[in-house]
Amino acid sequence: MSSPEAGFPLFPQLPLELREEIWRFCLPNRVHELDRPLAENVYDVDEDHPAPCHLQRTSLVNGYPPLISRVCRESRAVAHETGRFLPLDQQDQIVEGEWYSDTLRHDAWRDAARDSVHLNWTRAYEVDFYYTEGDGSPLEYLAKQVSLTKSDGSMMAQYLDANFGPDYTEVSTSVYHPQNPNKERESEALKQQSSWLVVTRVIVVHSDLQSAAATGLFGLLGDSLVQIVDCSNGARIRQYLDLAESCEQHHQVAIRQNPRQEPLNEAEQRLKWLVKRTQGSEELLSAVRPGIMFRLCTQQCNRRV
Ligand SMILES: [Zn+2]
Repeated sequence: MSSPEAGFPLFPQLPLELREEIWRFCLPNRVHELDRPLAENVYDVDEDHPAPCHLQRTSLVNGYPPLISRVCRESRAVAHETGRFLPLDQQDQIVEGEWYSDTLRHDAWRDAARDSVHLNWTRAYEVDFYYTEGDGSPLEYLAKQVSLTKSDGSMMAQYLDANFGPDYTEVSTSVYHPQNPNKERESEALKQQSSWLVVTRVIVVHSDLQSAAATGLFGLLGDSLVQIVDCSNGARIRQYLDLAESCEQHHQVAIRQNPRQEPLNEAEQRLKWLVKRTQGSEELLSAVRPGIMFRLCTQQCNRRV
């Protein structure tokens, strides 16, 4: 085979077991978003500078069935081995006692064997979106969803403190962070898993799909548009930052995100300090790891026209 365009005509002659393994290899390992993201939490915006990208397209496409499910009957069957949509009769179902918000997504494809589970919700959502606490809380809801699939879980650092960001200081915590009535229960929920990725930054990469897919950073076939990378994986993070920077440098963009704003080791120190302060637990310090979320938006909406 001289190039990918040349194809692989002998593929149908491979044994079925081998073909299925190849299809499985093509399935994405996604970040399954339980709820819709809020652009105002990502961009530094005010009345004169609204968020250039609303993130919804990224979230929507990331919840589509994997690309290979549309190749042929055989590949579709492989995608359905572990992936599915939530059945219609279970969508929008409010379970008594659980936390619920109208930002929750029940219409996204979920592969129980491959996907991690992420909650975008922070206190900032409370202003604009309906939610009900019941006997639960957002973090307990997340912990339950993670336990149902035995997958990894992640949340936003701003969930732990609304002011979390590069300029975070202890003074801002004492002024703005009210006592969390669910603190003890949420600490117990967090302890149910031995590892949590906590997103300290969100960086939106605006690129056409073909260029981004060719980097392999958004899945083998470019159908894994939301990625959360552990800050301890410096080499991997640098690959994403390089792509994000090059996409900004080559175009006039409405809002720059300054991807290398903060050294990675500082993010870890601040996160550990935050967890100790908000959860009051030494035990959780080893469980939380800072991560950066990278979102691929192919709409080019951040370009200045
Ligand atoms: Zn966009």
